[in-house]
Amino acid sequence: MIPNSTSQRNFAIAAVGKLCDAGFEALWAGGCVRDRLLGQEPQDYDVATNATPDEVRKVFGKRKTLAIGAAFGVIVVLGDQQGLQIDVATFRSDSPYSDGRHPDSVTFSTAEEDAKRRDFTINGMFFDPLKDKVIDYVGGSQDIQNRMLRAIGNPHDRIGEDKLRMLRAVRFAAIYGLTIDEKTLDAIRVHAGELSVVSAERIASEIRKMLAHPQRKQAVNLLVETDLLQQVFKSDSLFNSENSTATIQLVQKLRTERFETALAAVLLSLMGPDPTTPIATSGRDLSSWCKQWKLSNEESKLVVWLLESLPCILTANDDAWPAIQPVLIHTDIQELLSLADAVTAHWDHCESEAIEYCRQQIRLPIETLNPQPLVSGTDLLSLGLQPGPSFKEILNTIREQQLLGKIDTQQAALKVALSLAENYHR
Ligand code: ATP
Ligand code: MG
Repeated sequence: MIPNSTSQRNFAIAAVGKLCDAGFEALWAGGCVRDRLLGQEPQDYDVATNATPDEVRKVFGKRKTLAIGAAFGVIVVLGDQQGLQIDVATFRSDSPYSDGRHPDSVTFSTAEEDAKRRDFTINGMFFDPLKDKVIDYVGGSQDIQNRMLRAIGNPHDRIGEDKLRMLRAVRFAAIYGLTIDEKTLDAIRVHAGELSVVSAERIASEIRKMLAHPQRKQAVNLLVETDLLQQVFKSDSLFNSENSTATIQLVQKLRTERFETALAAVLLSLMGPDPTTPIATSGRDLSSWCKQWKLSNEESKLVVWLLESLPCILTANDDAWPAIQPVLIHTDIQELLSLADAVTAHWDHCESEAIEYCRQQIRLPIETLNPQPLVSGTDLLSLGLQPGPSFKEILNTIREQQLLGKIDTQQAALKVALSLAENYHR
């Protein structure tokens, strides 16, 4: 069970209280402070303190703490309610970043130093929940007021040391409707080509957060403007990242909240040129690309299905019913129709009549849209047919004829099965 926001907040206040009672300095830090100042409910709370990881464990007790991130100074403190937990991190400074992603080591330090190692001014503030006071060493409150996203310190250095920050900058700017400060934007453009040091999984996780958000259009615009979209899809021969104008337009026309559909739209725009033809690459290539991005099985299945089924929807009024019917009864048909709407709005030669036809068909009574199959594999076995490659084909043929209205009783279906089996064994 996920604890509600009030119990999370109360737990975050209690954690600060407990550390302060033990004589330490403790503050809320980072994202939760930003969210509060933006008038939003924080998703989670982080506490920063001058207590060392060992001291934190002593204050809360070994049984109530997990030391998974202790090397970076982070202790997880567990609440009484299931799922209630909070990261308590010792104030720290980071050493140089030689891999372009992680500091080589960390040293424990002061709140001010800890603020300065953070990425953007809006993320670099602390809040004292006991005194109801913001502690701002980096000018984050001013930037929030001016709706500005700005790197802390020298943007070239900060973006250069951890390339993931480029995607974080785009995400925060898009989601919170901020303008990226000119020097920070300039640094992103300069370093965009170095995004490849970030793992595909981390890239995917940022892109997922952007595409799943109602502000995704702004995120895609910024990705294109900063050259990051090209970098994200550059290394793969499946995509032609030159087509980014189509990406912007297609995403702009998409009316759905799902990440998978938005990702399918982005991939489609980059695979071009004509969405009515089956996708330029095989479903298997696409699946392995999804795997590399460490998408979940459900996510990849949906992305591949959307792209593979789109041509069928776009030409539905010309296609045979048995080809369209399995697509129309899929649980995610509404997502596919949303994608198809965006595609027809974008590509002039794709007609919306086909989609209208699909919408009409899915409103048919279920017995008409998806009638119970007339025969099953067990029925074929009891006819004495041997399982084998022909088995599935016979079932498919019978289903097709049923959907076309050529047969409508089990008796007729079994007759067809027998004659088909005879043909196979001739
Ligand atoms: P969200 O949880 O929505 O991704 P967040 O800002 O809370 O946003 P977290 O990844 O939870 O992001 O990180 C918490 C805080 O740690 C950030 O607010 C920021 O101060 C700091 N931080 C996170 N990632 C980085 C990074 N790559 N470089 C510098 N500081 C970072
Ligand atoms: Mg967070």
